[in-house]
Amino acid sequence: MVPPPKRKNPLRRTQAPLLPPSARSRTALGITAAAAQGRFVLQVCAACETVQYPPREICGACLGDELAWRAVPSEGTLLAATTIRISGDPYFRERMPWRTGTVAMDAGPTVIAHVQASLVPGDRARLVQKLDRAGQGVMVALPLAATHDSLDDPMMRELTNDPQDRRVLVTDGRHPIGQAVARALLAAGAHVVLGIADIWKPFASVDGAEMIELDLTDADSVRRCAAAYGGRLEIVVNTGLYTRPGGILARGDLTTARVEMEAAYFGPMRLAQALGPALRSRAADGTHPACAWVNVLSVYALTNLPSWGTTSASQAAALSLSQALRADLRPIRVVNVLVGPLDDEWHQTVPSPKVAPTALATAIVRALRDGIEDVAVGDVAQDILARWLDDPKILERELAT
Ligand SMILES: [Zn+2]
Repeated sequence: MVPPPKRKNPLRRTQAPLLPPSARSRTALGITAAAAQGRFVLQVCAACETVQYPPREICGACLGDELAWRAVPSEGTLLAATTIRISGDPYFRERMPWRTGTVAMDAGPTVIAHVQASLVPGDRARLVQKLDRAGQGVMVALPLAATHDSLDDPMMRELTNDPQDRRVLVTDGRHPIGQAVARALLAAGAHVVLGIADIWKPFASVDGAEMIELDLTDADSVRRCAAAYGGRLEIVVNTGLYTRPGGILARGDLTTARVEMEAAYFGPMRLAQALGPALRSRAADGTHPACAWVNVLSVYALTNLPSWGTTSASQAAALSLSQALRADLRPIRVVNVLVGPLDDEWHQTVPSPKVAPTALATAIVRALRDGIEDVAVGDVAQDILARWLDDPKILERELAT
């Protein structure tokens, strides 16, 4: 069993959860949108193919005004780096020293970026786009050899949410997803607290995880969990995905729809209201502060799949709740993990491909390590998301027939 992280030194003051400067132009939010999905994009001029940086309205080379965000090679050479020791900004003042520098990209432009500690001028570097604690996109220069993006240094800890040495609540240990996520988090070095509804009934325990009674549909149960663990969690993973086949007319009444709304919407809202304030207040506290809130959602939250009509509607409510939490919980990162049909008892009649709970669990750990906030897991979810981004109206018609 992974021992729980050490208690914080009571003589140290608690750092306030400040935010880095977050003003961006609408154009510059293209970097934020890419960072949220773990992509690397820059604007490219449609007329002359010049890669642009910083983001702008008009091409710096030919004055063309058609600048599309495209994936471009992200490698380059670090030209210069400096260590900032004094800052007038309250957020950075608490986090000095901080390294920044300029990178000459192979793709053309020279960019200003946060620079990882081990890089020196002349080194080859890989640029990544990350979300900062305000939820805005920033550029970071990493060594080429870095295997994953969450290198364990103070700068990268600000930009990622590695579960290692953090205490994580997984809400639904009775579901195969909850079990798989708990195992993946334990393997990633987290201390896992696994919620079990009706804990007096038999359940399959997960070696190394701490089991507690938690039923999101029961206000008393959520309150007891918050009282015991509210100030001691750094990550919450809501794995309680409740999906049932059936269209609106076929249901005939509201019974299942009410259960779905309770599981997808009211339950998570109850949990957020109980745990959110304490989590947010500890978002800058210690070396591994509270950092993330993960929701597992059906990809049909984006567009209703009528044969799963009431489930899709409840998932749309859950997605909307999650978007509101993203603003309310800042600087806690809210991660939405969208999945298609799962390989479980409720999807036996659904044809492959289906997502195994272990694949979903692996994707959640990777999203936390890389600091991503929107993930689609599996072929179906990735396909639906791509079609939705392309044209939501066309997708609505495709799913309705
Ligand atoms: Zn141009």
